[in-house]
Amino acid sequence: MALLVIDDLAKTYDKVTALTGINLSVEAGEFVTLLGPSGSGKTTLLMSLAGFTTPSKGTIRLDGKDITHVDPEDRNFGFVFQGYALFPHLTVANNIAFSLRVRKWEKARIATRVSEMLSLVGLDNLAERKPRELSGGQQQRVAIARALAFGPRILLLDEPLSALDRMLRETMQKELKRLHRETGVTFVYVTHDQEEAIAMSDRIAVFNHGRIVEIGPPRDLYKKPSTRFVAGFLGENNFLSGHRADDDATKVEAFGTRFGFPLAKGRERPGDSLTVWVRPEDIRIGQATGDEIGFRATVVENAFVGALERILLRTATGEQMVATLRSEAAVAAVPGQIIDCRIDPSAIGVLPNEA
Ligand code: ADP
Ligand code: MG
Repeated sequence: MALLVIDDLAKTYDKVTALTGINLSVEAGEFVTLLGPSGSGKTTLLMSLAGFTTPSKGTIRLDGKDITHVDPEDRNFGFVFQGYALFPHLTVANNIAFSLRVRKWEKARIATRVSEMLSLVGLDNLAERKPRELSGGQQQRVAIARALAFGPRILLLDEPLSALDRMLRETMQKELKRLHRETGVTFVYVTHDQEEAIAMSDRIAVFNHGRIVEIGPPRDLYKKPSTRFVAGFLGENNFLSGHRADDDATKVEAFGTRFGFPLAKGRERPGDSLTVWVRPEDIRIGQATGDEIGFRATVVENAFVGALERILLRTATGEQMVATLRSEAAVAAVPGQIIDCRIDPSAIGVLPNEA
């Protein structure tokens, strides 16, 4: 049985529907991320899990027990929230000890636990500092240590790294992954940053307009998204227009080429219009071999962007397509030239256009 089961949860504020039809199960020890644009309902779900927001409908179960209306302090969850600040007048050690004192732990046990938590987050030498004497990254470590100290069943984190600069954010992502591994605590993590979600999660639940549009491991969502929204939200993608061939509906015609692609639920007919997507890193230069999809395109622009070159192509149908290539492969991409390109069929996604 899953540790946490959310069943048909909804939340409405006056006229605003923040969440509808939320179903999600989280296994013990899992790292699950709620990913979506601003305003898509992620914080509302996390607040409902924490018990700070009362859902309008649906249930939340922990170990099979209905906790939908249980008080926050009786859920035994840890929180690291945006703006859920440290106590400014307390030292680092006392910030971490706070939740243990509230739980009436013995003095000696608190001292042991605080020093364990300090070393877990690498702050052994800063126990007596006040929060204002710490960097942003150090403060965030204290907040995490404080939330983990009492041994929560689940740690809820709402965009805990969004205020940090890029370098520090990447360091803290690795730190959080390590803490997740070492503690075995279940993490439910909110972010609007797709790279962060991909790098950290066992599974991602993608939110849009108060609904979960897709749930799965990062690789599956990235490689085989089942909606255009997910295909576009998780990393850059090329969306190109195409149609089912007039003479054979199992074939797709797009960007000046033709290739086989299975029919969606057999509903499609010859000539039906559709959208084809392919990620920039899946486009290669050179003649197609085997079952690769070959096509020709004009190089519009070639820009160096660090580890990769970013090539802007114009297809035979006049659409723009972005390809990212390693520098040595990009040498052939001279602006103005028409070049041979190829794509592995497994990298192609096709979705019928709604009528
Ligand atoms: P996210 O965390 O994904 O940015 P939120 O859960 O904060 O999204 O918000 C979801 C929707 O609910 C938004 O439209 C937001 O304006 C609305 N909302 C959130 N909290 C409240 C509130 N207390 N009162 C009214 N509307 C709210
Ligand atoms: Mg939010």
